[in-house]
Amino acid sequence: MMKASLHRPSKAVIDLAAIAFNIRQLSAHLPQKTEKWAVVKANAYGHGAIEVSKHIDPLVDGFCVSNIDEALELRSAGIGKKILVLGVSDLAALPLARKGKVSLTVASLEWLDLALTAEEDLTGLNFHIKIDSGMGRIGFRDSQEAQEAIHRLQAAGAVAEGIFTHFATADEVDHYKFEAQLARFHQILSELDSVPPLVHASNSATSLWHSETVLNAVRLGDIIYGLNPSGTVLELPYEFKPALSLVSELVHVKEVEAGADVGYGATYTSKSQEWIGTIPLGYADGWTRDMQGFDVLIDGQRCPIVGRVSMDQITVRLPQAYPLGTPVVLIGNSGAETITVTDVAEKLGTINYEVVCLISDRVPRVYKD
Ligand SMILES: *Cc1c(COP(=O)(O)O)cnc(C)c1O
Repeated sequence: MMKASLHRPSKAVIDLAAIAFNIRQLSAHLPQKTEKWAVVKANAYGHGAIEVSKHIDPLVDGFCVSNIDEALELRSAGIGKKILVLGVSDLAALPLARKGKVSLTVASLEWLDLALTAEEDLTGLNFHIKIDSGMGRIGFRDSQEAQEAIHRLQAAGAVAEGIFTHFATADEVDHYKFEAQLARFHQILSELDSVPPLVHASNSATSLWHSETVLNAVRLGDIIYGLNPSGTVLELPYEFKPALSLVSELVHVKEVEAGADVGYGATYTSKSQEWIGTIPLGYADGWTRDMQGFDVLIDGQRCPIVGRVSMDQITVRLPQAYPLGTPVVLIGNSGAETITVTDVAEKLGTINYEVVCLISDRVPRVYKD
């Protein structure tokens, strides 16, 4: 893990009140008895799993993470609500899950056999059965195997607490594949002789744009951080507030003559006398080399990133001289200008999820609420 650089002005500012606001917005638009589970895997999409989970704990029914270590991190921080591990767990997770009261996912009979070899008695363990209704990643593809898994769990003293699936295309305009997956999930449920109590299928996109299919729990990730899971494809149906901004300061400002090269590879040459500012953040912070040519915001103005992005620094062209310590916004607002996480994703040809996950441990997270 990279050491957080505390004595450097580059910081991710996390607005916990915005995350709480976003969950309240969803709660107001989803059926009241639908359980709301917050997905806080990958350090809460880079926002800080412990701080985020503690803040929103009163507003949600449980938490989803991707592996046992993420679950235990929350338990150590005092989170007492239900936690579900969404991925396939290492067998070493079984005793840890029992001790930490963490629910695990069963996605195949082959895995369950290995688990039963490792721990004959699964008493005290809770499981959710994962159905692959068309995503093609993990899960049972037919009802007989899922039923068999439920029976084996019960025979070993475990509780089949839930059953769930995951949609591949809920964030798209075309509903055809979504409808096929939903139909397949309902068909599998109808073929089971006992359905576990918690049935869930909805991620953010499904909760937003297919809210008729929320069943009895939803798993809310991207949207609680104020990010649109479709990027720019679908409009959000109601208001959400972005929770993360990325800020820094100018640490060096210089005037260069026409024809001066800037950065590795001399990929930028000034056309006239120009002001060049340096910002202490680079690809080791998750601001990748592809960000060359994008903008940052200074004093309410867009300033282009000129020259290569280095490991620890970027250079920008300034409209005028600015003193050291002048605030720089890489993601967020400055005056009337805004750069969103999705804007950065568009520049990189990726999705907003990846942009926030890429912000490395070196960037301290600072919380406000
Ligand atoms: C990550 C994940 C989610 C959350 O997805 P969002 O699009 O961020 O809401 C829900 N369910 C599963 C199985 C996931 O892996």
